[in-house]
Amino acid sequence: MKLVIAHLYPAHLNMYGDRGNVLAMVHRAQCRGIEAEVVPVGPGDTLVPEAVDFVFMGGGQDAQQMLVADDLARHKADAMRQAAERGVVMLGICGGYQMLGHYYQPYDSDPIPGLGLLDCTTVAGPERFIGNVVVVRPDGSTLVGFENHSGLTTLGQGVVPLGTVKLGKGNNGQDGSEGAVSASGTLYGTYLHGSLLPKNPSLTDELLGKALSVRYGEAGAVAMQQPVSPALQALETSAHQRALVLNR
Ligand code: GLN
Repeated sequence: MKLVIAHLYPAHLNMYGDRGNVLAMVHRAQCRGIEAEVVPVGPGDTLVPEAVDFVFMGGGQDAQQMLVADDLARHKADAMRQAAERGVVMLGICGGYQMLGHYYQPYDSDPIPGLGLLDCTTVAGPERFIGNVVVVRPDGSTLVGFENHSGLTTLGQGVVPLGTVKLGKGNNGQDGSEGAVSASGTLYGTYLHGSLLPKNPSLTDELLGKALSVRYGEAGAVAMQQPVSPALQALETSAHQRALVLNR
């Protein structure tokens, strides 16, 4: 069994080490005997929708987002839409989240078109939201990370929040929501840097299980029943718990 990860714009959208999310997916797959291949997809590169199982796009400053927006529209949009229609799991962090939405409008400048795969829109406000974040998911589980964005994201009818903010600002500092998950349950966006997944192993496994099921069906679920190494589980769980204690 093999997991193929497309890492979009790794050199441009990697704010705060967001590549750690790709490493977490790789480690929790390999620990279960699943081969993992990371395919960097930069400007001008072609994304092959049938060849990937998981797509990751990290965060970046407005300038990087403007730089990749044109390439996304020209070289990636159709393939990303086809991948989403296949059920390929995608995760966007901050700027990457904003680019999965309809548009991101930097402060006092024109909107940057997004892919429109997540039903959300973002307009930069005058204030930057910076700090640690604790999110409570609908099942009561928690996510920890930190945020640094001026974008204020409004969710549409086609998504639900990833969770509600217990600490921090989240999507817009107003409605208590953080992040977004598509109605299909396969496309995820969040403002949580950290990087996110190494401190939130339950989310990593949620994404990994869904990504494997697209190509391998029930065999993917069986593979996920294999526990990861006790050392990895202990490390990631303790990082999560420590962050909760520090942000009580
Ligand atoms: N430039 C975007 C904003 O400020 C995203 C920043 C980021 O990716 N951390 O909202």
